Amino acid sequence: MENFSFDHKNYKAITSDFVYNIDESECKKYRKHLRSVLKSFGVVVYKNSKADLLEHNELARTIWGMGGAAVLYDDTLPIKQQVISLAHELGHVILHANANRFRNDHGTKHIMELEAEIFAYAYLQILMKSEGKDVKI
Ligand SMILES: [Zn+2]
Repeated sequence: MENFSFDHKNYKAITSDFVYNIDESECKKYRKHLRSVLKSFGVVVYKNSKADLLEHNELARTIWGMGGAAVLYDDTLPIKQQVISLAHELGHVILHANANRFRNDHGTKHIMELEAEIFAYAYLQILMKSEGKDVKI
């Protein structure tokens, strides 16, 4: 069996294969869709053009507060990357709302990142498939 390591480069590349085949106007539609799904979960979505609340090399982030969550994403990135980032953050919102986020050990964080990336992969494929796009599931 092939050895799989929880490397950032591994899971950040998972969704890119098929999203990069989708044209920009489609991606704008998916970005709008993802923003509205996040809002339907009570999440406040912020474009963060200056990326001043994002750390170096961070594409997006979910911030958890007392009353709910906020998602920040860097809208200066290519639109395809924004779509992947928003789908990834939706994964955190759905999968990790009740997670113990104070448990900050390396292994747990890596597993949560992998889960969010797998969620984004599945979600985007199903979304595209539902619109008749020829994608592998
Ligand atoms: Zn993440």
